Amino acid sequence: MSEIKENFFENNALFKFDTYSCDMVTDVIHTSPNEEPSYNYKISANSLKPITLAYAPKQGLVRINKITGSIEESNILGRFISLCDKPEKELIKFMNDNGFIFPVEIDNYETIKKEELLNILTRLKLTVELMSNISSIKKDYHKIVLSIINLLFYRPVEFTTDSMQSTYTTHHYDYVDLLKSSGDTLSDKRKQQEFNSDVYTIENDTIFPNYEINIADYNDIICSAIPSIFKNIMCLYVGLDSKNTIERKITDVLYHSLKECKSLESFGNTKNSLKNISDNFQKTIIDVAKYIIGEEINSNLNRIYPVYNMDKITPSWKIDDLLSALYFSIFYLNSELELYRQCANPRCSKWFLVRTTTTKKKYCSQECCNRVTQDKYRKNKRIEEKKKKSV
Ligand SMILES: [Zn+2]
Repeated sequence: MSEIKENFFENNALFKFDTYSCDMVTDVIHTSPNEEPSYNYKISANSLKPITLAYAPKQGLVRINKITGSIEESNILGRFISLCDKPEKELIKFMNDNGFIFPVEIDNYETIKKEELLNILTRLKLTVELMSNISSIKKDYHKIVLSIINLLFYRPVEFTTDSMQSTYTTHHYDYVDLLKSSGDTLSDKRKQQEFNSDVYTIENDTIFPNYEINIADYNDIICSAIPSIFKNIMCLYVGLDSKNTIERKITDVLYHSLKECKSLESFGNTKNSLKNISDNFQKTIIDVAKYIIGEEINSNLNRIYPVYNMDKITPSWKIDDLLSALYFSIFYLNSELELYRQCANPRCSKWFLVRTTTTKKKYCSQECCNRVTQDKYRKNKRIEEKKKKSV
């Protein structure tokens, strides 16, 4: 049996990570008879249940049985990001099986904030979703821009447990500060354009070079009383001098994607707005998406350290927490070859690893495929019976 263990680690695993399973419980807090109760999670690492997670190509992050060395649970990342759409008991079960995302005290309960935990989970899911969407053969550009917007403007989250050496913070984009500070002060070049014509010519637009924007339309937006981030996007679009930088590309993607609906919120409802867009527009969206994915992953790798294994004369990694291991597993993912797809069975909706070129595999397992076929059969049968009765 120990042979399997040796083989798995030495031949397949790119990294491994030791942790403890968790005991997670929910406390109901009643503050006033007229108010809905609030809930808190309490969590404690279980010293009697140490566990080992490992990452191997084509298999993703897996849990290894400590005694036999065999794989006890595969697709930990897929299960983790599926929790966003699952009832709370599934989240608790996950933590009991695979431990908490950060180090927590052993055999001693500490309170953690549920909302912050769910925000961290959702952000990782958005990153995996964005990676999958840009790797898909048939790309949905509306979905890709929506994920870019969601990640770029995601509410910042801080998280600390008693056992952590420093507070975890989600990635903050300097671009958002640049956007917020953008004003309507015009450069000399723009003032000259205003004097000579009715349009501003955006020479350095990376999608549509020399794009013309009507000055009257620009002023309408700038002077409107309704505060909106689109106003800032427009100011930056007209005012940003740089050529071909990532700031320029993000601004161009945001401006051209939002110019019809004029707000981040309503963009989600304009599903057909980015159909049949030019090759250059598509390429710039992908460039921005890749940048966002890189930022999300890089900012989550700073709790991982290279260490040299003197005995085996091999490189290895020290990983501080499960969240880092999850991000490290997508860092190793070769998205040109494989991607995560969500199971099309609505009762399952688990994310599973699939070859990028496989477009037909819609279900995570044969079981899910059979279940959906059965559901469809039953539904059709009911409709037929109804028809017969009405005749
Ligand atoms: Zn499934």
